[in-house]
Amino acid sequence: MDEARCAGADSAPAVREPKVILFYRFTPLEDPAAIRLWQHTLCDALSLRGRILISRHGINVTLGGAMSDLKRYVRSTATYPGFHGLDVKWSEGTGRDFARLRVRVRDEVVSFGAPDELEVDRDGVVGGGVRLSARQVHELLEQRGDDVVFFDGRNAFEAAIGRFRGAIVPDTDTTRDFVRLLDSGAYDHLKSRPVVTYCTGGVRCEVLSALMNARGFEEVYQIDGGVLRYAQEFANDGLWEGSLFVFDERLAMRFGDDATVLGHCERCATPTSRYRNCAEAACRALILLCEDCAVRHSSRDCGPRHATAPRARWRSLSPS
Ligand SMILES: [Zn+2]
Ligand SMILES: [Zn+2]
Repeated sequence: MDEARCAGADSAPAVREPKVILFYRFTPLEDPAAIRLWQHTLCDALSLRGRILISRHGINVTLGGAMSDLKRYVRSTATYPGFHGLDVKWSEGTGRDFARLRVRVRDEVVSFGAPDELEVDRDGVVGGGVRLSARQVHELLEQRGDDVVFFDGRNAFEAAIGRFRGAIVPDTDTTRDFVRLLDSGAYDHLKSRPVVTYCTGGVRCEVLSALMNARGFEEVYQIDGGVLRYAQEFANDGLWEGSLFVFDERLAMRFGDDATVLGHCERCATPTSRYRNCAEAACRALILLCEDCAVRHSSRDCGPRHATAPRARWRSLSPS
């Protein structure tokens, strides 16, 4: 058995390596239902799994599969006029990162609860923050120093295991909480400062930075390609610390063995970056647990919060 597996591994061409891709494109789509049908057929034919959200404002894609199949998918998808020149982020997969394929039409490709506020043209989101490459982020810090604020555009539980050093982490259970928090005035004191928004792959900050600009923040930036692109450049040698939460079965990515462990076990406070699914099959909550606590069934059970745990909705959130 082992021999067979080894022989298989040796002869398996690299193109069959499991990978995960993330990309998005904000562009007006007149017929999201037709795009959905086309995307579903395409993914199905290539045995890809993952999640695709489509709205009249664009598309948001997270898929896992063999590298060669994903490349075929990207080539086909990019033939659609609105999808030319896609910026695809690639990462290592396991081959079982997604349980199924879901291709859906929604009001929004990221759920801020503000579909009517978002304005999109062929160039993308109208009124978004200024895009910064990883190096430009560092240049901004050199020029402006401590005045620069990092603003985490993700949910608080994602930031619990990794974030930019010194970042402001809004108390959000879901992306929908951002509009309420911004409108509450909680961050009005940042309105005259340079604010650098960031998220996993950049899609949430496309919208978040536009929402902030519209609310009078004077100098809003977004990290182009999000933490994924930043970490490609700097891994753990820059301003990012910890693990990056991802919305698939991997749950987190690390950019090298020297990643800082920022999270703490919810049972015993031991440092850990590993979320686990609640032991109750019907519950979709995640619990941050150390290795010791994770082996005890009682620790992995989030009850009696099952029904109300805010993170219970993480699987239905938009990937980014
Ligand atoms: Zn523990
Ligand atoms: Zn639970």
